[in-house]
Amino acid sequence: MNPIFGTPAATGARDAEWDQQEAAFGRLITSDEVDTSHGPILYLDDVTVSFDGFKALNKLSLTVERGELRCIIGPNGAGKTTMMDVITGKTRPDSGQVFFGQRMDLTRMREAQIAHAGIGRKFQKPSVFESHTVFENLELAMKTDKRARHSLFAELTAAQRKRIDEVLEIVVLGAHAGKLAGLLSHGQKQWLEIGMLLMQEPLLLMLDEPVAGMTDDETARTAELLERLSGDHSIIVVEHDMDFVGSIARTVTVLHEGSVLAEGTMSQVQSDERVVEVYLGR
Ligand code: ADP
Ligand code: MG
Repeated sequence: MNPIFGTPAATGARDAEWDQQEAAFGRLITSDEVDTSHGPILYLDDVTVSFDGFKALNKLSLTVERGELRCIIGPNGAGKTTMMDVITGKTRPDSGQVFFGQRMDLTRMREAQIAHAGIGRKFQKPSVFESHTVFENLELAMKTDKRARHSLFAELTAAQRKRIDEVLEIVVLGAHAGKLAGLLSHGQKQWLEIGMLLMQEPLLLMLDEPVAGMTDDETARTAELLERLSGDHSIIVVEHDMDFVGSIARTVTVLHEGSVLAEGTMSQVQSDERVVEVYLGR
């Protein structure tokens, strides 16, 4: 039994290395320890990921500054999901560097460590607990030591209750706190899931197509939500909805064949010949 994550530790050399690192830290790394006093919050340099010789990422280099709201676009197969898999520790790169803050080498950490250190990821499909209330969903998502897993039967502290109320306010679900999550609209479920990520107090949020399937009104509200969250959080959004990207992004990165094809404001990348060719002009 792994004493920190409560799961049986798999065998193998890589796990042994992780266990060693965990032992060296003596405890879990927390987001307070991510050194972002200077330099970017996320730094990818020359990252390559091959699947049977095919390079899903090909010498990808990218930096994201603290508090930035960055949009990543690119045609299907460009490597967007693989990039997020590398950042979250799901996929190990063949080569290249991936740093969170100045010191945290993400290629040497496992998924649970990376999540605990302050990187939250939202997949496209909402995964809220439908038969629990909105409030309970946030309660269940609370950042707790996995050795003392939080249960709904544990008494909430005043500070924990306050944090849940704050998050309810941020994701504009205050009026629905007692509602079963299964009864929320698609857009509200997405916001609840963003709220659940916020309960983990992430420094960096990664969202995969957050407005897919949303109404125009929900999309506009999501844009407002992400703008409110940026600054306090760094956010990476992968999205296909160009109007949405244009409405929130200061910097847009265009991925193509596993590398950065172009980067700049929406109007800069939209007028880039190569971008028009591979993506916008399809
Ligand atoms: P995007 O998210 O931009 O659509 P992906 O990162 O999902 O792109 O995929 C990039 C490329 O890598 C695609 O050509 C895809 O088929 C390939 N790929 C992704 N994951 C795997 C895998 N596990 N095995 C083999 N090929 C993969
Ligand atoms: Mg993808």
